[in-house]
Parts: sequence; C-alpha cells; structure tokens
Amino acid sequence: MKSRNQEHCSFCGKNKKETVILIAGIEAHICEACVSQAHDILTEEMISRDPKSSDFKLPENITPQGISEYLDEYIIGQDEAKKYLAVAVYNHYKRLNYTAKNDIDLQKSNILFVGRTGTGKTLMAKTIANFLEVPFTIVDATIFTEAGYVGEDVESMLSRLLQACDYDVEAAQKGIVYIDEIDKIARKNDNPSITRDVSGEGVQQAMLKMLEGTEVNVPPQGGRKHPEQKLIKINTSNILFVCGGAFDGLEKIIARRLNTQVIGFKKEGEENIEKENIYQYINHQDIKSFGLIPELIGRLPVLTYLEPLDKETLVRILTEPKNSLVKQYKKLFELEGIKLEIKPDAYEYIAEKALEFKLGARGLRSICEAILTDAMFELPSEKDVLELIIDKPYAVDKLSISKLSRLKVA
Ligand code: ADP
Repeated sequence: MKSRNQEHCSFCGKNKKETVILIAGIEAHICEACVSQAHDILTEEMISRDPKSSDFKLPENITPQGISEYLDEYIIGQDEAKKYLAVAVYNHYKRLNYTAKNDIDLQKSNILFVGRTGTGKTLMAKTIANFLEVPFTIVDATIFTEAGYVGEDVESMLSRLLQACDYDVEAAQKGIVYIDEIDKIARKNDNPSITRDVSGEGVQQAMLKMLEGTEVNVPPQGGRKHPEQKLIKINTSNILFVCGGAFDGLEKIIARRLNTQVIGFKKEGEENIEKENIYQYINHQDIKSFGLIPELIGRLPVLTYLEPLDKETLVRILTEPKNSLVKQYKKLFELEGIKLEIKPDAYEYIAEKALEFKLGARGLRSICEAILTDAMFELPSEKDVLELIIDKPYAVDKLSISKLSRLKVA
C-alpha cells in the first residue's frame, strides 16, 4: 500500500505536496487544477454541442384557455393580459412545430406589456416559462448601450438565457426572455444635446434583428464582446421576447389621441376610474408617440396592458395565489410550531398601505416583513407560544415603529 505522502493526482501526476487539495476516489485521486480543467472542458463541450432541431411539444391537449387557467393559479386579475399572453404563447409554440415547407410564413408573436410597477408583468412572463418548462431570464433594458459605448451589448441578454439553462443551446433557442423597463430606452425627442442617443434609440436599433429572429454570436459570460472570446451562435427565431414597461405619461398620449382629456379629479376615497381605465384603449400608435421606433414596435405585435391594482385585488394577491405571501408566512411559522392567523382587518390595512406607497403588489412583501419581523425574531426563543394572531391594531403598531412608516408618499 502507498503511504499518504506518495499519493498523487491520477490525471496530471502531481504528488500530494504539490497540490492544494487532492480528492480521493476509489482507486484514483484528482487535484484542484485538474477538477478546474475538467470543468472548463465540460463547459466548452456543452457550448459547442451541435444544436439539434427537435420539436418542442406543448403540454398535452393544451389550449389557450388551459394556459390562462394555469396563470390564474398564480396571478390575480389581469384577465385581458392573460388572454393575450395565452394566445400569443399558444401560437408561438404552434409555430415552432410548423414546418417551414408551408407557403405561409408564421410571424413571431413577441409581446409588449404596459402596466405600472408591481402589477405582475414579470410574474406573467415567469409563470408562463414555468408552465412551458423552458429557460427564462429577466434583463433590464437600461443596462444596454449601442456597441462601442460603456454598458452591455444587447446580445448579452442571450448570455443570461444560456446561463439559465447551463449553456444548453438547443433549450435556450426555445426560451423566453423578459426585457424589463423597455420604456426607458424610448427615443429622447426633446433631448437638446447633439450627442448620440446611445442608450435609447441606438439600443432599439440593436434589438431589432434579435427580436425578429437571426443568428447571433453571443459572449458566453455576457458583457461586451471582445476579439479573443469564444462566441456561441444562437438562433433567436424561436425565442419568445416579452417586453414590459410602465410607460409613465402614456395615458396623456392615449387621451390626446382619443381627443379627450385625462380627467384629473378624485372623489374622496375613490379611485380615479376615468384615468385608470384609459389603458384599455392603448394601441401601437401610442407606443410610437411615446418614443419606441416603428421597427421595434412592429416586432412586438402583441400589445396588452395590466390594470392598476385596487385594494380588493391586493388583498386577493396576499392570500389567493398558490404560493401567496400569507401562505408562505404561515408555513414559516408552522415550521416553528406556531399557528399564524391574520384577521381580515389586517389584510385590508396592509393593502391600503401598499396602495399608499404606490409600489403595486411589490409593496406587500415589505409591509408584511415590517409587521412580522418582531414576531419572527422573538417567537423562536419562546417555546410556549403556539399561536400568533395579527389584527389591525397589531399591524398598525408594528408598522408605525418600522422604517417603512417613514416612506414618503409621493
Ligand atoms: P412588474 O409589473 O413591476 O414586473 P412583478 O411581476 O415583478 O411586477 O410583481 C411584483 C410582485 O408582486 C411579485 O412578487 C408578484 O408576486 C406580485 N404580484 C404583482 N401582481 C400580481 C398579480 N396580479 N397577482 C399575484 N401577484 C402579483
């Protein structure tokens, strides 16, 4: 038998003293350098694997209605957007299996969601990707700039998609990319400066080919392309792009087109219905007036809106979705052996506060955290507590001493 000092890496032959870590197998050893090298070889192999063209199958017997019902389990309300998304996704994946021999070329149905922050735009895209079991990534349009300027190339969004599926090119080519804050790359019409609009219109131009479907050379690690880097070829024809943005100020554009005025008055305690519902009249022309170039709009043929969330919807979001916040907190407390009960007046209070902070449903989580953190801190060390009841006075009390109460309402 060999002594410990005689042990060596079975791959490169280095003996134990020359290595940092020598991992033992049944009859062999491997050093850290060889592990790392093996990892690189594996990654490279994955990258250069020839993308085979295999059919993508939608789940059995699925219909747009079935897709929408699935979305209902996770997303509250937004029926219009769900309908559009379901049809677009259904057609998109039908198109994937439609052989090119046919004489009619089916166009891609990339989607544009318009809706305030926290109304569920990202959630929609994420949920549909889960449903289809395809790779999914979220990118922020504001990080991109035209090639050659400080920032990232638009191709790097595909790097993230690749990373999301461990560099499986074939899978990535059928994935979904959600581009957030697309409104922030609108053309800056009133920009008096003579400098180029490299993060606005320049980025829109750069996105065109990719959204339509082309072969793109993608830097595997993202960022900027550079000459020595090995690039991966990705065909974007079957990648579904979903764009989302708040498009602040769009209601004025819609109203102007409709030749009406945005009615700005608010009755005490009532939502401003006229203003809120104006998004239902949205069309591509409004998006163009906002500053997206027609070529880009043409590549986002499915346009739909998400409604602002009212109090009742926020309460439902707290409780109803499959993995709702309340279900998650109940589970957390249950793991400590504590039954958590939240009274209806506390739900309403949380929803009212979320409305006040204007963060959409995103605000719900921070409010719940503020209310429950003390309990989550103290109760695990108090073994005799079996139940925690949260009512409105408790919630008001906890929120008033939290940092959130200092949040200024715009
Ligand atoms: P955005 O519209 O800004 O992309 P998100 O989709 O990221 O908003 O939503 C923020 C959070 O709010 C998510 O965690 C999501 O769970 C929740 N949320 C927003 N809208 C809804 C909705 N309609 N139904 C259920 N949860 C929602």
